[in-house]
Amino acid sequence: MDVFMGKAQGFHGPITAKLTLENDKILKAESEHTKSAYIGDLGIQRLLKRIESEQSLDVDVISGATYSTNAYLTAAKKAVSVAKGKLSQEDALNLNISLENSKDNQVDTVSSASITSHDEVNTSVAREAVYMSNNPDLFDELFDVVIAGSGGAGLSAAVESARGGLKTIIFEKAGIPGGTTNASGGVIQAAGTKYQKEFTDFKDDTPKKHAQLWVKAGEGRVDESLVWDLALGAPDNIEWLVELGLEFDTVYGHAKIPYITDDLHADRIHQYKNGGQGGEGTLLTQTLLTDFIKHEGQIEYDSPVVALILDKDTSSVIGAVIEKNGKEVKVKADRGVVLATASIDHNPALAKELNDQQYYDISNSTLLSTPYDTGDGIIMGMGIGAAVSGLGGCIDFCSRTGNATNNQIPTIPMVLINGIGKRFVREDSTYAYHYRAIFQETKKHDAPTYMVFGKSSISEPGSAWTSESLKADVESGLVIKAETLEELAEKIAVPTTNLKETIEKWNSFAANKEDAEFGRLEGLKEISGPYYAMLNKASNLGSLGGLRINTDSQVINSFGQPIKGLYAAGLNAGGWVTGYYPGSGTAIAGIIHQGRKAGKHLAANN
Ligand SMILES: Cc1cc2nc3c(=O)[nH]c(=O)nc-3n(C[C@H](O)[C@H](O)[C@H](O)COP(=O)(O)OP(=O)(O)OC[C@H]3O[C@@H](n4cnc5c(N)ncnc54)[C@H](O)[C@@H]3O)c2cc1C
Repeated sequence: MDVFMGKAQGFHGPITAKLTLENDKILKAESEHTKSAYIGDLGIQRLLKRIESEQSLDVDVISGATYSTNAYLTAAKKAVSVAKGKLSQEDALNLNISLENSKDNQVDTVSSASITSHDEVNTSVAREAVYMSNNPDLFDELFDVVIAGSGGAGLSAAVESARGGLKTIIFEKAGIPGGTTNASGGVIQAAGTKYQKEFTDFKDDTPKKHAQLWVKAGEGRVDESLVWDLALGAPDNIEWLVELGLEFDTVYGHAKIPYITDDLHADRIHQYKNGGQGGEGTLLTQTLLTDFIKHEGQIEYDSPVVALILDKDTSSVIGAVIEKNGKEVKVKADRGVVLATASIDHNPALAKELNDQQYYDISNSTLLSTPYDTGDGIIMGMGIGAAVSGLGGCIDFCSRTGNATNNQIPTIPMVLINGIGKRFVREDSTYAYHYRAIFQETKKHDAPTYMVFGKSSISEPGSAWTSESLKADVESGLVIKAETLEELAEKIAVPTTNLKETIEKWNSFAANKEDAEFGRLEGLKEISGPYYAMLNKASNLGSLGGLRINTDSQVINSFGQPIKGLYAAGLNAGGWVTGYYPGSGTAIAGIIHQGRKAGKHLAANN
């Protein structure tokens, strides 16, 4: 038994493969890589198991983490070359010496733009429902509950279902668990918790105020019963996550929604230990998955749910068709099926029909959600008469505007201007609110919008730039620099008079310490030359809206009745958040809540 090593470049840094070999057989496969490669790490862990069970490197890469698992295989092949005497150990650990097997232009889900189709094609794998007799002998596999998707919503449903004693299986389309929830920071909103009291000045906040804010943010398009249920249930969801092993050690807020009164805003964003940054949502998904497995839950990867199965006599949902290794497998779900496949994020054809902002974003923004979210659950539901709700709006943001996700980061002195050089929104509002305005202005004038600021702006609190990084951004063309407003207006193709008027007006507001136009409070300081402009381009974290549900997460049909045996949770469900995303932690709050509700309803004798 000997140990050999090889090294290759991964997406987040070098990956070292350490193989224990005996007569060409791999007895043990280990990896050294940066732990901040959260999603890649999930893939590599699965790959190591695959290699050890096959005792060979002749295995497929893990979908959803193809870049990292390809890099590991490259490193491992270098290690095998050392064993065969074809490469020295020193060369195998040299990143500049490569084997010709690392070609793959796909990337991990966290930066998946290169595998996202931008054509107007329906990227969904969903097919028409199958109607059949409810006879167990006609099915390939028998379960109480089938869950489509292993993001936070699917996993929460799974935990409650398995804890409720139901034989539960998750079918996951990707090769790793977690979906977009992995990519998240895992922060979650709730009001009135002991953590909020401990870590913020909001000692008397209540779920009622939380519900009132969310209802107002829904602008008349949310189902108020869902919103109230979510706000009232949020504190218990936090305690549930604590019981599962997460430890909350920080609570903060999001920037204001301009038309909502101050008394309804509060610091409600709960962050668990080692959470808060993109990718640290894996801690949440792994915590849920561990508990699910502990309660004898099962999960299968690379196994998309492609169709619902309905009882031919009653039209209740009694199972699902899964595609496994190119074959269709009929799985019976005695209690029901939970659709937790998120929204239409990467489906241009559906987005065109259902969500114009998402449709715009697919071609013009950076999509950060998992490319496997192609609206499958929404199509499967609609295919059997489910109603849809709350479609429209996105979780759009840009970290450079300052007020990214956290109200402790102020907005720098800058203005957002439209194609005719005028301001159009309160810039220090919560990110998706001003991003909706950016989208609307872009459409209205058929011209891009810009963030305009001055040299001194970048030394203000909350600035995303240092003078060096600004210089680099100017050189790369990301930021446009001009000595005068006339020059800037010409470079960004807006009317000079309007741009000059806008900046003059802004500077007079700054001098008077009052934004008489939009009521902005933060970064109210003069903007002076040299001037800078950055084209507003969103990072899109997901699309809003999905299947209509009730407070038990049962899917509702177009006539207002629950469809027996069918549930939806998280971003696959709609009506609880829409139009624009009110602030960080709303999505995770929703997915945990509705997932749990579905699992609990299934476990109760429904
Ligand atoms: C970078 C980033 C940071 C974010 N940070 C936060 C945050 O800190 N707090 C917050 O509240 N929100 C955050 N969000 C938003 C939030 O993460 C998502 O809205 C939420 O996690 C979606 O959860 P979900 O369970 O509904 O869907 P997902 O987590 O996307 O899970 C859906 C799963 O379904 C699978 N699937 C799709 N189709 C099928 C099929 N046919 N069969 C089987 N499986 C299928 C997918 O592969 C995926 O695993 C962030 C988003 C991003 C991109």
